[in-house]
Parts: sequence; structure tokens; C-alpha cells
Amino acid sequence: MQQHLNATARHTALIKQQAVALGFDFCGISAAGFLDDEAPRLENWLKQERHGQMGYMANHFDKRLDPRLLVDGAKSVITVLLNYFPEAPLAEGADDLKISKYAYGEDYHFVLKDKLKSLLTFIQENVGEVGGRAFVDSAPVMDKAWAQRSGAGWMGKHTNIINRKMGSFFFIGELILDLELTPDGPIGDYCGTCTRCIDACPTGAIVEPYVVDGSRCISYFTIELKEAIPATVSGQFDNWIFGCDICQDVCPWNRFAKPHQTPAFDPHPTLRQLTKTDWQDITEDVFREVFRRSAVKRTKLEGLQRNIAFVQQTSQAANLDLD
Ligand code: SF4
Ligand code: SF4
Repeated sequence: MQQHLNATARHTALIKQQAVALGFDFCGISAAGFLDDEAPRLENWLKQERHGQMGYMANHFDKRLDPRLLVDGAKSVITVLLNYFPEAPLAEGADDLKISKYAYGEDYHFVLKDKLKSLLTFIQENVGEVGGRAFVDSAPVMDKAWAQRSGAGWMGKHTNIINRKMGSFFFIGELILDLELTPDGPIGDYCGTCTRCIDACPTGAIVEPYVVDGSRCISYFTIELKEAIPATVSGQFDNWIFGCDICQDVCPWNRFAKPHQTPAFDPHPTLRQLTKTDWQDITEDVFREVFRRSAVKRTKLEGLQRNIAFVQQTSQAANLDLD
């Protein structure tokens, strides 16, 4: 028994050490099991159609709540964090068009997946026959719930995970393994009486503390929505044309955010120089070159142009009102 415990502790320490060596900013562990607290929460959220057109959120309900349905004999969920907070924001002027910081550099799915696969290979080479799968922002895994359980942070009132040392600008990835490891525990909630994110959200998407109506969020309108953006939210986007960072930017915990150390997340040089006019006149060639490896590719050029036109219309209307 003692020997077994020692092996578990040794494997846990080895994996955490290697995660840091691979550049991850945090590595925590949870025992794989049914997410009983999250089950009613997820059910409610879906019932109230908070997911809008994001149909994939409603799929794989059982798998989302139990990692043992994703990996045979799953015993542990490893959560890793990778910081993406940039050295400086791309847009600072009130009139500039803005994209979410997570989309400045290369698509995080690939960057994180590669690192997680290296971690899995390391485990298989150093521990023995271990089965497992890597997940990055994929529908069947409730990454925030696992991040909480592994002590990565708590879920803020804006529903992003906040880490006491880093704030909230990081990506989350998981390795689900059939290997027993020593679990970490959750940490407390340090939002206290603060409501800055709720007060700052321009579309009122944070409908109550810890509940975001995904179908009212600027990220949803600018990235997920396939059709025209409804006029009901006209004038509310504050120049965000891909995603939105407002609720995280105002969060006092992001005072602790430090620039990332992952060169892949640095913006394409052309992206640093785009003026408002360049954005408006963006061509297929520029779009393809600048966003070749970026998550912005998801909207396609037409989607981005739709978003730019939408925020432009509303700022022109506001200017006319002032005249
Ligand atoms: S990302 Fe923007 S729109 Fe969405 S909840 Fe946060 S502040 Fe509101
Ligand atoms: S802004 Fe305040 S309430 Fe919102 S997540 Fe940050 S600490 Fe919590």
C-alpha cells in the first residue's frame, strides 16, 4: 500500500514538473468522476437556451459530465493553464477596432494540443503504459469545472476562471488519464462584493452573478452567430469586432496578469499595424495572410466584415446624433 502511495505521489510530482518544463503556467489534478454539482446547472442553462445557436453545447450531455465516458478507465483529469496576456493591447484608442486578446497570435487549440500531447508522451515514456486523451476547448469536456476542482482558480461572476497569481487571461487544457494521481482541491471564491464585470458588460449578458447568457454576449454575436447581428444590440459593441474582453479587462484580479512567454501567441506583425481604415478595407489576401494561423479564421472574411460594418454603422449613427 505504502509503495502504491509513493508511486502515485512520485508520478504526480513528475508530471507537474514536466508541465512546467513544457511552459504551462499551472498544472493541477482532479480525480475523474461524475460532475454532480455541475449537472443541474448545465441542464438549467441549456433549458433556458442560454447557448443560442451554439448547438454543440447541448450535445454529449452525459459525456460532458463524466470523463470516464470519454476515456476507458479514466482515473485522473490533469488541468493545465497557459497564459496569453499580451505585452500590450493591440488597440488602445477609444475609436480603434478591437479583437479579443486570445486571438492575437496562433490558434491556441494547436499550441495547447501540441504541448499536451508532449506531456502525454512524456508520461507514457516515464511512467509506463498509460492511456489518455488531450482536450482543448472541446465540447465534451467541462474545462472550467475541472479547472476549479484542480485548484487552478475559482469561477468569477463573469464565469471565467480566475487564478490568484495570473488573473484570467489564460487557456485551459486537459489530459484525461487512466492513471491514478494525487488530486488537488478546489480553492475559495475571491470575488467578494465586487460587481465590476456585471456593471461593465455592455449587453447585460451577465444576467446574474455566475450566469452568462451566451446568446447575449458580444463573443457570441461576433464569432458564433451565422446570420446578421440583430439591431437590438446596435451601439453596444464598443468597437469589439471579434470577441470581447470587457468583463475581464475590468476585473481587479487581472492587475496580476503578466505578459505570456509563448512566442506563438505574439500578434502577426501586420496585425500590430492595422489602422481602422485598414480594417475596413481588409482584403481576402490580407485576411488570409494575417489570420492564417489564427482563431479569427473562424469567422471567415465575410464574418469579420459583417462585424466591422456593424460597429461602424453604430458609431456613424452616434456621430450623426452628436452633429
Ligand atoms: S465578454 Fe463582453 S459581452 Fe460577453 S459577458 Fe463579458 S463583457 Fe459581456
Ligand atoms: S470583476 Fe469582480 S465580480 Fe467580476 S469576476 Fe472579477 S472580481 Fe469577480
